[in-house]
Amino acid sequence: MARVNLDGNPISMQAICMIGGGGFIGSHLCEKLMAETNHKAVVVDVSSDKINHLLDMSLPWAHRIEFHQMNIKTDSRLETLIKASDLTINLAAICTPADYNTRPLDTIFSNFIDAIPVIKYCTENKKRLIHFSTCEVYGKTIGSFLPEEYRKDPKYFMLKEDVSPCIFGPVEKQRWSYACAKQMTDRLIYAEHAENGLKYTIVRPYNWIGPRMDFIPGVDGPSDGVPRVLACFSNSLLRGEPLKLVDGGESKRTFLYIKDAIDAVVLMIDNPERANGYIFNVGNPDNEVSVKQLAELMMKAYSKVASVPASSLSTLKVSSEDFYGKGYDDSDRRIPDMTIITRQLAWKPKTPLDELLDVTLQYQHQTYSRSIQRELSKPSN
Ligand code: NAD
Ligand code: UDP
Repeated sequence: MARVNLDGNPISMQAICMIGGGGFIGSHLCEKLMAETNHKAVVVDVSSDKINHLLDMSLPWAHRIEFHQMNIKTDSRLETLIKASDLTINLAAICTPADYNTRPLDTIFSNFIDAIPVIKYCTENKKRLIHFSTCEVYGKTIGSFLPEEYRKDPKYFMLKEDVSPCIFGPVEKQRWSYACAKQMTDRLIYAEHAENGLKYTIVRPYNWIGPRMDFIPGVDGPSDGVPRVLACFSNSLLRGEPLKLVDGGESKRTFLYIKDAIDAVVLMIDNPERANGYIFNVGNPDNEVSVKQLAELMMKAYSKVASVPASSLSTLKVSSEDFYGKGYDDSDRRIPDMTIITRQLAWKPKTPLDELLDVTLQYQHQTYSRSIQRELSKPSN
């Protein structure tokens, strides 16, 4: 049966140029597009490791997915691919906080300078763009600067796309290089729309998590690499080491299951009239925990999944300077206001945090525990 959009109109096939489509979010989006739509994915990335399972020529959708191994910084084929597609989705970025203060130049280039040609090609060729920004563009909440008694009012911490200010720390706190570069890209897209008619949608993900996020150091990433918190905590659990709580793990996050998030992105693809010209917060306000609480929930879920006694799992407080180095700073709290996405796309998140952690830790255990056990049983030199 033909799929219809939210207004009851049949959805026509689109060729989607997905830049950075070989990463965590891209891999889940490709899976969904192949299994449940008739859209075509033209994936551009430096690596296909996370989508190789979708590229086998014997699969029923083989004619609807192609992979172009390219670095968009240096490859002139990009414009041709954008021109030949109906829609471009830009996911390419350096987006692990450990890089923001240690590789600020790469971070700024990746999140701002490298996005400029993508935006330009979309404007010049009159192609629609869905661009991935971040909830981090809001920076710190107003509430974080107020005495405790004032912080209870949602207006001091709820983040609204069309109202909230963007509050970053000083330049020497290089943590904000990412947020600032992303914000500049959002502003460039908005200006291209205002002056040259670019059709755009900007997505602001709030800590989307699930299988295939980042890497496990020493297994499918560098042994001294520092991924985002889900993979850091998974790595510690797999190795039987304490989970490190940066500055005590007091910061709070709302976590959204990747599969719920992908439903929102597909609604944006299929409903351009409702999505063009909007910035969307995409998060789950019901899944808010402190990082310390996240560690506790992950220890509980992992002890069940791996059949290890909960008493063998622990946490350890570390300073942000020891963990990330100089120039780190943190977002205190990120609660998405959901008014715009609910009104425009009738999307709501579904999966509670304990359920999504169960599924994800099962995946982490199945995928990595053998390699880690092999590594740990090797005699050390
Ligand atoms: P990811 O690192 O898994 O994916 C990014 C992909 O971009 C990677 O596969 C990488 O190889 C590719 N890439 C980077 N530079 C490239 C280049 N020069 N040429 C070609 N490919 C390049 O990250 P993700 O979690 O999938 O995030 C995707 C987007 O969503 C990013 O823009 C990120 O800033 C944004 N975002 C994600 C989250 C989240 O919760 N996962 C939160 C906020 C923002
Ligand atoms: N964090 C932590 N221990 C870790 C990794 C991260 O306490 O091993 C904290 C980090 O300081 C931040 C939160 O977890 O407060 C989320 O970090 P993440 O890297 O996932 O990205 P962010 O949400 O800050 O963009």
